[in-house]
Amino acid sequence: MRVLVIGSGGREHAICYSFARSERVEKIYCAPGNGGIASIAECVPIKPEEIDKLIEFAERESIDLTFVGGETALALGIVDEFEKRDLRVIGASMSAARLEASKAFAKDFMARHGIPTAKYLTADSPSAAIGVLESGHFGDETSPVVVKADGLAAGKGVVVARDRQEAVSACEELASLVGDAADTIVLEEYLDGREVSLLMFVDGNDFILMPPVRDHKRIGEGDTGPNTGGMGTITDSGLLTPAQTQQVIEEMIEPTLAGCIADGFPFRGILFLGLMLTHGGAKLLEYNVRFGDPETQAILVRLESDLVGICEAMLDGTLGNTLIKWRDGNSACVVLAAEGYPQKPRIGDVIDGLDDAASIDDVTIFHAGTAVSEEGAFVTSGGRVLGITATGDELAEALTKAYEAAAIISWKGMQYRRDIGT
Ligand code: AMP
Repeated sequence: MRVLVIGSGGREHAICYSFARSERVEKIYCAPGNGGIASIAECVPIKPEEIDKLIEFAERESIDLTFVGGETALALGIVDEFEKRDLRVIGASMSAARLEASKAFAKDFMARHGIPTAKYLTADSPSAAIGVLESGHFGDETSPVVVKADGLAAGKGVVVARDRQEAVSACEELASLVGDAADTIVLEEYLDGREVSLLMFVDGNDFILMPPVRDHKRIGEGDTGPNTGGMGTITDSGLLTPAQTQQVIEEMIEPTLAGCIADGFPFRGILFLGLMLTHGGAKLLEYNVRFGDPETQAILVRLESDLVGICEAMLDGTLGNTLIKWRDGNSACVVLAAEGYPQKPRIGDVIDGLDDAASIDDVTIFHAGTAVSEEGAFVTSGGRVLGITATGDELAEALTKAYEAAAIISWKGMQYRRDIGT
């Protein structure tokens, strides 16, 4: 098979890596890819938003299967366009992608289908949102409240405000941070608890869960400092008890898939639930309609089944008869980031130690932001540079190996969190 993966981050490297392990895959292309991906796939200089060019490429190169990594192309309707031309593609349709592309749409969907989530109100301007806050709808001046830009904002559209003053400031500032994405603002009740993410393969009717995963979003140890795209992840079956998993299936997953069918957009692709485990049970914070980054890296190193077969089952509607095998134990992904990330990452630094780090047993290095210099060396080319990913029979073992590998790698100003998984 000839496979095309769309995207350029660590997530897409992990997806290419899984396809590269399949005996059925003869050739992998990645558009646009990155320096590290180029070692297992042919990188094609087409951006995810350039849907016409991607279609032309897929037709010209007789691509058998396309896998869309990120949300931007999905929200633009890439899957619908590929399907119109009978090109086999994995990802959510444009209608289904609204579950991620509009937080107001997602919250209304959850309310309509009785899915447990934080109480919310939608406002169509910052001043209307401030009016709602001042009316006391979300408690008094001292109450925490969450302010969210409706649209896609690459992780920058959510402010967890500690009190009303912070919430009002967030309403005033969101537009300058994320532009049009803040034309509509969602205000939400603050939920206290532990977060966990649950991803699944979905074929429209049936789903197969992946191992539960936890990410660390803040740049600093102890969850301090600004939010990032994600500084590390772990997979651990203990993140959700069997009873919690059952609650999530019955109260969230089944109603979501049935709701998508009832509302006219059966969900096919990767569904990602961001959950908050509160004293009152699990609540759904958000949907993503694709793999997370860096969740994917920690998840896919544990996938033992052939990703091609899983994709075919999603496309053919046969997930219900499919078994997926995962490596037992745990995994961890530690992100190595550039100096200045997330505000202003410096790029172009030469990366040392990659080969030695990769030679450690059970360690896989996924490239997120690297390029190859004229001299043939790997250099940094983005804020998040590498995802050092390891498996182990226990979480501690996976973390030890990932950190052992991280310690061998260096470039000027490299930064990472030493507390992933704790
Ligand atoms: P979202 O993109 O909606 O998942 O929000 C990003 C992050 O903001 C989440 O991962 C949580 O850490 C936090 N967050 C979102 N909504 C809430 C909420 N209602 N209560 C507490 N924290 C929240």
